[in-house]
Amino acid sequence: MLTFTATPLDRAVNLRGDDAQLRALQESGAARFVPVWSEKFPVNDARIVTLSAQAAMRWDQSNAVFLGLAGDVPWFALALPASEQAPALGGPESFLGLRDLAAVLEGDEAAIAAYALAMTIWRANHLHCGRCGAATVATEGGHSSTCSNAACAHRTFPRSDPVVITLITAGDKCLLGRQAAWPPGMYSCIAGFVEPGETLESAVRREAREETGLSIGEVRYVASQPWPFPASLMQGFRAEALTTELHPDGKELEDCRWFTKAEVRGFKERDSEGDGFKLPSRYAIARLLVEGWLAE
Ligand SMILES: [Zn+2]
Repeated sequence: MLTFTATPLDRAVNLRGDDAQLRALQESGAARFVPVWSEKFPVNDARIVTLSAQAAMRWDQSNAVFLGLAGDVPWFALALPASEQAPALGGPESFLGLRDLAAVLEGDEAAIAAYALAMTIWRANHLHCGRCGAATVATEGGHSSTCSNAACAHRTFPRSDPVVITLITAGDKCLLGRQAAWPPGMYSCIAGFVEPGETLESAVRREAREETGLSIGEVRYVASQPWPFPASLMQGFRAEALTTELHPDGKELEDCRWFTKAEVRGFKERDSEGDGFKLPSRYAIARLLVEGWLAE
């Protein structure tokens, strides 16, 4: 299963409007709070350290986000205040960012962490109204922000930014490119944000043309993956190129090339030492697209 997608939570959307019931869930002995500090999670023994309602009480809970129910257990995300030093939660935990966590966590927890991170980043970025500038309050269990200026009362909701990511093939080769900021040798699929007024398919074609100079024929959807860095929804595609001559744009991509399956099978892991070509991370949808093609 693709990392960040195997959530055990029922989002229980119908409970978000019921403040009294949410408060009761938040105070219940069964409740689990996922602390998020500085976009990081406390981890011990490859598990996220969650807090009970009692342990969570020492923090301001006004921005707690109701994530949903796992059976009878209500789950919340709890943003801890900014501080120079990581907060002490009473155990031997260390704080890890989601990318590092994805390498060590089981599927269920990675999906909950991705959801919690997306919600806490969104809330932190919407403390003021985009229309009138007044402070907002978290509403609907943290799934909306409402302007405190009664004359405005503007509400905003979390958004996901659509990104298309495409494995382009031509005959028996696939196209992979690299951004200058990536680890040396790492090559991956072509990706970019979908613009307003654009379909996913036209975004695939536009990104391919802009970044590589290729014309694209058939475009086929494969899978999607939440990617809360900070708010993307990766949508994975396969596409067939109508042309093969490459013109990397030199901005987004510093290089792109055609590779055979034998060549890609010789790629090393992203974090391995030494020279040579390297694959995208195991937890990224790009890897799923590449491995799907290799398996054909
Ligand atoms: Zn307002």
